[in-house]
Amino acid sequence: MSKDCLILNGDGRPLSYFPLSSVDWKTAVKLVITRNVIIIKEHEDWIVRSPSTSFKVPSIVMLRKFHRFSKKVKFSRSNVFLRDMFTCQYCNDVFEKKELTIDHLIPKSKGGITSWENVTTSCKSCNLKKADSIPKVLPKAEKPSHRQLIRGQEKASGQKISPDWQEYIVA
Ligand SMILES: [Zn+2]
Repeated sequence: MSKDCLILNGDGRPLSYFPLSSVDWKTAVKLVITRNVIIIKEHEDWIVRSPSTSFKVPSIVMLRKFHRFSKKVKFSRSNVFLRDMFTCQYCNDVFEKKELTIDHLIPKSKGGITSWENVTTSCKSCNLKKADSIPKVLPKAEKPSHRQLIRGQEKASGQKISPDWQEYIVA
């Protein structure tokens, strides 16, 4: 999260979201020197000097070529917690990851499947109370966007990503 330089794919989107594709400044400089990337933005207040030259450290670089990857948000326990901001959807309290569990809205025993739409974040005690019942009011559950997951990650780590990077995190 707190790396120095965001790496974009050839199409101007982050190369990966989780983890967000970023590298330390030395690697970023090497990528520029080896002509693998072009500089999109520099750190205005961060200048590196060598005996022969000085340059600004890149804050965002883009690969010269486009690399094809799957851009879909992967379904996983951790991503469900990120989507729900580590908040139990029944008692609305925020918990540490180890105190949380994923809860099937329609229980598996009643034919519920494991999907974005049918799972939610629950603390262990709410999960125990709910057991195999179906709640009268179902918490909102849908497939999250990358932006939503990154917001969850910022909240969990207490570290915000660089404001320069925000506009590149679309969808
Ligand atoms: Zn709870």
